[in-house]
Amino acid sequence: GGSASASSIKQVKLERESELRIEVGNETPLKLRLLNGSAEIFGSELAPETWLTFPPRVKFAVFTWYGATIEMDGATETDYTADETPMVSYVNVHAVLEGRRNRAKASSPDDSEASQGPRVIVVGPTDSGKSTLSRMLLSWAAKQGWKPTFVDLDIGQGSITVPGCIAATPIELPIDPVEGIPLEMPLVYFYGHTTPSNNVDLYKTLVNELAQMLETQFSRNAESRAAGMVINTMGWIEGTGYELLLHAIDTFKANVVLVLGQEKLFSMLKAVAKSKPNVDVVKLQKSGGVVSRNAKFRQKARGYRIREYFYGLTNDLSPHSNIANFSDLLVYRIGGGPQAPRSALPIGADPVANPLRVTPVNIDRDLLHMVLSVSYAKEPDQILTSNVAGFIYITDIDIQRKKITYLAPSAGELPSKYLIMGTLTWLET
Ligand code: ADP
Repeated sequence: GGSASASSIKQVKLERESELRIEVGNETPLKLRLLNGSAEIFGSELAPETWLTFPPRVKFAVFTWYGATIEMDGATETDYTADETPMVSYVNVHAVLEGRRNRAKASSPDDSEASQGPRVIVVGPTDSGKSTLSRMLLSWAAKQGWKPTFVDLDIGQGSITVPGCIAATPIELPIDPVEGIPLEMPLVYFYGHTTPSNNVDLYKTLVNELAQMLETQFSRNAESRAAGMVINTMGWIEGTGYELLLHAIDTFKANVVLVLGQEKLFSMLKAVAKSKPNVDVVKLQKSGGVVSRNAKFRQKARGYRIREYFYGLTNDLSPHSNIANFSDLLVYRIGGGPQAPRSALPIGADPVANPLRVTPVNIDRDLLHMVLSVSYAKEPDQILTSNVAGFIYITDIDIQRKKITYLAPSAGELPSKYLIMGTLTWLET
């Protein structure tokens, strides 16, 4: 980062096809508005003269196709103008996708192949701008009146809901530059960990479930089928990570693979696609504006994301603290180590636990500060394959009185008594 500039009103004139890159300061928000011309933030157009308030630490760019003047009020960590961006190549991809959507819309809905719009998957290492490109493609499509489906397979950060989940949601309007993706009715599956290596089988199972669910929705809805999907992936591209990418490409029947900033990954996927004639693999340049975030920053960002789920981006939500008896809640976990030591198992039994086994968890102090999901399952044997309604955060465990205190988005009974525990924790700050 550069040197911190003083808090004051500042105007920036942007030439055509250039962008203003901003990192908001760590402590205070930044206000920004479009004074004249036209500009967009990650594909979402700015309304003239309207102040937007960006919370601390946010990193973004204001891009203009034809020139604009921007006004900023507040301290930034960095702000600078760049006239070299990959935006033209990105918008060209958008144009190709538009063509495919129009063709899909024009064909008979009975032809399930031809009426299927583009299924785009964005891949690349961490901090290559995958989430940002996904967002632009979705916002540009929504501006054109499409309702593409956003699929987020990135359990590390999560643009749709808390980390540790895979999720999908239709995007009906350009994504708000400040608020991000609206949390209306996402389809969410709880994996419960922030790295896929914790339980690769579970990750794959959930990807399969999500894909199947979307397939069903698409078969009933020609409009969303024609709009297609944009799938954001994890930055894990080596070894098992690479296998999971191939699994996602196959499972979602992706037909456009956008590879950001990695020659090796591009050539590997290109070779794989030789045997798949209807999959296009496209290499795209990474934007110089993408900010690298280290492990510590990521960890912190996960905490903020969980905080945002309960309290809102600007503390605009009021979560409710509830108390329940141990016996009111049924907590389960998926996979994990074997319950019995090897010596206690029958001879020849495999001590490695089934990674997909669903086991009840005894409520004890280990649950403190855990984020649990509330399953839509009606029976324990549905837990593995059910999506989740939301999350609770355990704030106190009283062993003596057998009481559990938790934070939930609202008061009242939980939509289900089946809770899923992983390794997702949060220290409320
Ligand atoms: P990935 O999904 O590949 O990990 P992101 O798309 O999340 O990467 O980008 C990393 C960070 O860089 C994000 O905070 C994002 O807002 C920021 N960013 C991306 N593009 C730009 C840009 N052109 N200017 C400034 N910041 C950017």
